[in-house]
Amino acid sequence: MSALQFRPPTQNRLLFENAAPPRTKALKRTNWAIEAKKNISNLGLDDDPRKPLTHFNHPPWLDSANVTVNDTLPGITSKNAPEATIIEAAVKQIRSLNPTITIYTDGSASAGTTNGGAGVVYTTGDPTAPDITSKSTKKGSKHTSSFGEEPTAMEEASDYILQNCNANDVVVIATDSQSLCSSLSHHSPASDTIRAKLAKSEAMIIVQWIPGHSNIPGNEAADAAAKEAALLLGPHLVKSSFFNGPGRYPKIDEAYSQLNSKKEKMIPCRSYQVELARLRSGYSMYLRDTQHQLDESIDPKCPRCGAENETVEHWLECPGTAEARHRIFGPEANLGLPLLTKHPLQAVTLAQKTLVGCLATESQ
Ligand SMILES: [Zn+2]
Repeated sequence: MSALQFRPPTQNRLLFENAAPPRTKALKRTNWAIEAKKNISNLGLDDDPRKPLTHFNHPPWLDSANVTVNDTLPGITSKNAPEATIIEAAVKQIRSLNPTITIYTDGSASAGTTNGGAGVVYTTGDPTAPDITSKSTKKGSKHTSSFGEEPTAMEEASDYILQNCNANDVVVIATDSQSLCSSLSHHSPASDTIRAKLAKSEAMIIVQWIPGHSNIPGNEAADAAAKEAALLLGPHLVKSSFFNGPGRYPKIDEAYSQLNSKKEKMIPCRSYQVELARLRSGYSMYLRDTQHQLDESIDPKCPRCGAENETVEHWLECPGTAEARHRIFGPEANLGLPLLTKHPLQAVTLAQKTLVGCLATESQ
């Protein structure tokens, strides 16, 4: 056993210890604030307004019963699935949710880092050929990421829902940002503003993830809107262009002309309200005309008189429903579309009596 020995210092260590350089200049002192100011000015961010601080304005542990977040798409396990499979799965899922309005949101950024833009398109009708009723484009930050713009787009959609949708609406917000969906479903503070806004709405809202860049028509339209938003001149402009109402069904205003909140409240259950909203929008799965749009092999002609396509308008003036209409609506039987809001309860009855399968087994 040898005793513990200190080894003599090595040459390298001696060199290091003896080589303290003489200090010629004073140390350059700096701090984070100075460095941050320098970087902000180098990046040209001086004129970029700061992001507003967000606060929790509701207890985050309270869940909102009207909002569902689906951060997966049934039938799709990988974003690399064949495009046709993705489109089919997305269309099937959106149809199954049976929305009155489908909103597609998207964020974009050049090369993923600069010139952001948020795009939102509002649609009715089937996801394979949606009717774009309006769109919003919002210029994003100069320095950003496409993820950074996704919440902007969805916040824009939330504002629209608050202003335009009511308890009769089932709204699907389709986004290709899975991270935003998971942020929403985990109540992350980053998406709290969106959640708080959605929770205030009376509409039933489903946030649905769909894969991006898969040629899903609504998603492509939102993508184009986001890219357009990035090109907007001037700082942070919000632009909304509204087209001439729902393209497929121009008479929606007429169907809503006699809306009366007291009468609406008498409709006994949600499924009735939803089906009525669909009829008013001219788009009900119980109408042959709608069925034909989804499946060309289905004859759009009225099964009762065969004279015209079975649209909601025709349903309300068809000789085949005249007897039931007179029994249900009395002297106003021939009022047409306004019947759907003037006598909502009776309109539900007419649907039950004359549209096969419509609201047949529903109860409160
Ligand atoms: Zn008919």
